[in-house]
Amino acid sequence: MGATGETQVSLSDTDARSMATTPRMPRVVEYNVQTAMEAEHHLIVAHEVTMQGYDRDALSMMAVAARDAMAPDRIEVIADKGYYKSEEILACEDARIAGGVHKPQTSNVSAREQFDKADFAYDASADAYICPASQQLIYRFTSQQDGKVIRTYWSSHCEGCVLKDKCTNSKERRIRRWEHEDVLERVQQRLDKYPTQIAARSMTVEHPYDTIRSWMGATHFKMRRLKNVATEMALHVLAYNMTRVIKIMGTPALVATMKA
Ligand code: SF4
Repeated sequence: MGATGETQVSLSDTDARSMATTPRMPRVVEYNVQTAMEAEHHLIVAHEVTMQGYDRDALSMMAVAARDAMAPDRIEVIADKGYYKSEEILACEDARIAGGVHKPQTSNVSAREQFDKADFAYDASADAYICPASQQLIYRFTSQQDGKVIRTYWSSHCEGCVLKDKCTNSKERRIRRWEHEDVLERVQQRLDKYPTQIAARSMTVEHPYDTIRSWMGATHFKMRRLKNVATEMALHVLAYNMTRVIKIMGTPALVATMKA
């Protein structure tokens, strides 16, 4: 590992990696299969087998692959919280793809039952936030955080505020705003407008996984190494899509279309 710069080594399959998992699912060494489904016919329009142990860098890659496969004027992409990453959502917007991803709740203030950032309304015309006590948090300074340009705001009225206990344990409550925060706000507005979309996502994208898993049985990929596992997965996806198209069109119509 010292010679290669790798942080882990798998002896049974040198390309497999330890995946980030949930308490319900213990950490295992495997591959990460990304899929993009179209919502009307539940076909897999793009897929990718990766060695990345998490999903948060995959949103724009899969969204662009889905757009290129479907070639529509415009697509909307819905993904679960594991795909929430500001830079990835911005990359989707730059590719003219409307992203819909709920922000995971990681803030300590919510855990302490204090006001969340969402309780502060941004007033673009004044470049200021309005807090729950109707005070204005004005722009103070700009800094860099993890390569992102962040603007910081606070009010001069926090000391003596009757809501301070519910707001901050510090001298004043500070709100940080990414320079592209308007992109994230548009995502949230879309999700608020169409609250059933996230539920539709899980019904759509889990369908092929469950089907393919039931075909595979309770087992792992038969192949080893990324290239071979990717081929194995591509055959599963092809079989799944063929089965779906036969179900939708019927075999005679499919054969006629393929001959045409
Ligand atoms: S503590 Fe400051 S930011 Fe929080 S509600 Fe009071 S005035 Fe507003």
